[in-house]
Order: sequence, then structure tokens, then C-alpha cells
Amino acid sequence: MQRILSMVLGLALSLGLATGCATTKRMNVGRTAAALLISDQQEEQLGKQVKTELETKEKIKYVEDPAVLEYVRSVSTPILQAANRDRANVKWKVSVIDDPKMVNAFATPGGYLYVYTGLLLAAENEAELAGVMGHEAAHVVGRHSAQAMMLQYGEQAVIEAALGKNANTVAQLAAGLAGTGAGLAFSRGNETEADELGARYTSAAGYDPRGLVTFFQKLAAKEGQTPGVLKWLSTHPPSADRVNHLNGFISKNGLTGTNVGADRLAPIKQRLRK
Ligand SMILES: [Zn+2]
Repeated sequence: MQRILSMVLGLALSLGLATGCATTKRMNVGRTAAALLISDQQEEQLGKQVKTELETKEKIKYVEDPAVLEYVRSVSTPILQAANRDRANVKWKVSVIDDPKMVNAFATPGGYLYVYTGLLLAAENEAELAGVMGHEAAHVVGRHSAQAMMLQYGEQAVIEAALGKNANTVAQLAAGLAGTGAGLAFSRGNETEADELGARYTSAAGYDPRGLVTFFQKLAAKEGQTPGVLKWLSTHPPSADRVNHLNGFISKNGLTGTNVGADRLAPIKQRLRK
């Protein structure tokens, strides 16, 4: 098995080095290795199982108000279309979880995107929501869950799942993912990549790409006041380095976008407060 792994990683390395520019080379090696180990079909299967776990064990409740669902879909659709240009065959499934005290959002393999009502309430405008959704979509594009699983559960378990050698392994991985609130810790490199790609997607959708930055800053200011509910912040520490890097990336790449959409989010927040 060790030999197969080194062959796979060796292949990934040569593929990764053959494509991409110098700055993205290292990240793409990880993405290529993840793609070789976990197929799109297996990602879809994993995503479906996480969803089942979330519904049965974590007992998440979905928002049913069609106005809220329609709103979130209208914000996410152009962002996800932009993300599809980097990874074409992801079929996105956006769900809104009814939990006003939980400021969180996450994505799982297979293109499942979950946003909590607490995050909608915490956002000041649409560009901030768009920034978070772009960031989460980028984790899917970059196959970051597969990369994180390799780190967390060991390559052996992931390879067994990928080879279909142990039918229980995928189920166990899914249970593990759901149990952490799908809050797998991504590497710093993966987080940086998600910040950068997310800024590109939100900008492509016409939103101010600095939405994620202002959202980070707002949550950081609230951190001490409402401990325990700022789940997203705990997996996404808004260090000065991170904010500076993202601002620099936006300027350097000339990412624009003027829509902040404050007036569209306000009535949705009103509905959620009722
Ligand atoms: Zn992230």
C-alpha cells in the first residue's frame, strides 16, 4: 500500500509540476493527489452521507421560507457559476440551516453548501454573505476536504475508501465529517487558496470582493461578546496577516465589484427575526 501511495503522490507531483504557475504549484499538487485518491463520484457519495448524518444525528433543521431560500440561491448562483469555470462538473446543492445562534457555513465534498441563518443575521450586506459562499465554494473546487481527510485520518484510510477496499471507510469518514459540524481543519495553504479563489468568484459575480474582509473584521470585533456561537470564526481565524494578504491579492489582481446589496439582505433578516 505504501508503494501505491508513493506512486500516486509521485504522479501527482509530476502532473502538478506540469501545470499551473509558480505560486499555485504547491497547492495544485495537493489538489491533484486528492483527485487521484477520491473520485468525483466518491466525493458525491461522501457528501450525500454527510448530509444524512447531519439530518439524522446532528438533527439539523432546514429553513422552509421560500423567500429566504430564493434569496440565498440568487446570491449563490452567479458565484457557483464562476466556481464551475475552475471545476466544471460540480453540481451545487445549497441548503439553509435554521439556527439563528450559529454563525457558520461550510461545504462538503460533492458540492453541498450549508449556510446557517445565524450567518445571514450576522452579515451586514450581501457582499459579506457572497464572500463567505465564494470562500466555501473554493474549498470544494480545491478538493480541500479530501486533502484534510488525508491529513486527519491518514492516507491509508482514504486510499482504502478510494479503492473500495473497505466499504465502511467512506461511511466512517462521512460520520467524522458530520460530527465535527463538517468543520474539518483545513491547512493554512488551503485556507489562503480559498480566500483567493473566493475573492475571484465573488468579484466575477459583481460583488465587492472585500466582503469577506469586512465580515472577518466584524466577527473578530464580536468575538468576546458572544462566545461559542462564532463557529465559522473558530475555523477561520481572521489574523492581520490573512486580511492583509487578501486585500493585497484583490488589489494586485485588479478584482473589482461594486455590489454590496445591503438593501436586499435587510428584509430577509427581518423575516428571520420573526
Ligand atoms: Zn475556509
